Amino acid sequence: SAVVEVPERRETVKREALAVARLRPSPSSLFPLGSPSLLKSPTQVKLWCDCPFWPDDGMCRLRDCSVCECPENEFPEPFKRSFSHGLSPDDLVCQEGKPHAAVDRTIDKAFKGWLEIDNPWTNDDETNNDEMTYVNLQLNPERYTGYTGPSARRIWDAIYTENCPSYPSGECCPEKRILYKLISGLHSSISIHIAADYLLDEAKNLWGQNLTLLYDRVLRYPDRVRNLYFNFLLVLRAVTKAADYLEQAEYETGNSEEDLKTQSLMRRLLYNSKLQAACPVPFDEAKLWKGQSEPELKQELQRQFRNISALMDCVGCEKCRLWGKLQVLGLGTALKILFSVDGDESHESLRQTLQLQRNEVIALMNLLNRLSESVKFVHEMGPSVETIMEGQ
Ligand code: FAD
Repeated sequence: SAVVEVPERRETVKREALAVARLRPSPSSLFPLGSPSLLKSPTQVKLWCDCPFWPDDGMCRLRDCSVCECPENEFPEPFKRSFSHGLSPDDLVCQEGKPHAAVDRTIDKAFKGWLEIDNPWTNDDETNNDEMTYVNLQLNPERYTGYTGPSARRIWDAIYTENCPSYPSGECCPEKRILYKLISGLHSSISIHIAADYLLDEAKNLWGQNLTLLYDRVLRYPDRVRNLYFNFLLVLRAVTKAADYLEQAEYETGNSEEDLKTQSLMRRLLYNSKLQAACPVPFDEAKLWKGQSEPELKQELQRQFRNISALMDCVGCEKCRLWGKLQVLGLGTALKILFSVDGDESHESLRQTLQLQRNEVIALMNLLNRLSESVKFVHEMGPSVETIMEGQ
């Protein structure tokens, strides 16, 4: 039964994750957009949910597909003290799947100013922290994992055909095509990250770029590139809109040096996004969904997006699920921000209406980072890859 299988699976994952953590040190590249310090901050995710649609069929081919939870030294200080009680140094290497890796709710007291409020756009109950674990995203980069075949295909098919029916054919109104464009843009971004960090030679453990894959999956389809840009602009617009709120939020983890860095990087990012806001609006959501059917449209989009969020629990590769869930939460947060103000666009009004959780902000900033990395990669590599591929 599922009740027996879950602990067994966790046990296997733990051993694999430990091996991976020892073999491969953390890559710590910085990012063109997004706050590195906030990105480094442990991220809370609920990785172990049952798929509501199909039986579990984990399809990982590589060890790299398993997720390593945070070692204790990366936990925020207040949590570290209560957590480290009675643990040997060995226990602190990787907490993957261990019973004592279960998250202590007292950690949330460390994040003053952040609310526990459910996101209506996503399927997970974000207020239920008992089932969540902490993960360092830099130890678990989004890249090639070997997850492919019917399991992966079934997820994408379900997302496109069940949740965005007939969207690509252009039969729907522009508002309804938003969901298709967002998912397609996210799909492009995931493919781009696979192409940017690909396992070229398994025997030699050689990683590098796979430009053929970049071309075959994304560049040769201009609409997929356009959808990536659309997604990026929508998320950037959401960050700009919530800039005042985000600027005043507290980023306290107990590590004052990291906290100051985070605050300063957030201010810089928000200042830059406000400068962009002075230019023509990159994406005007008001034009898209301020028609007469706005409340029904919002409800319908919300229902479809929650379905997509639920499908993330069916992703049969842990690392893909981690990034899938995180980025879908990021998109849900962007939509929550864009839909949160009715008519009145003033900052004061937004501050009063909008309520975000710490985890939503982390997801939003990481999504912005992933999308901006993808845009950068396409911008840098696209022209030469197209010239080579189309000349063949
Ligand atoms: P797929 O990428 O599976 O695409 C399936 C079909 O969707 C295509 O044939 C095409 O018709 C259509 N399609 C493709 N791209 C687009 C687009 N941008 N817009 C519209 N339609 C499109 N693999 C990893 O190696 N690392 C990961 O981190 C990772 N994360 C994943 C996260 C999620 C949520 C999912 C569902 C899968 C993830 N995968 C990951 C698997 C990966 O996305 C592919 O499914 C896998 O590499 C197989 O690729 P494929 O060539 O069969 O085409």
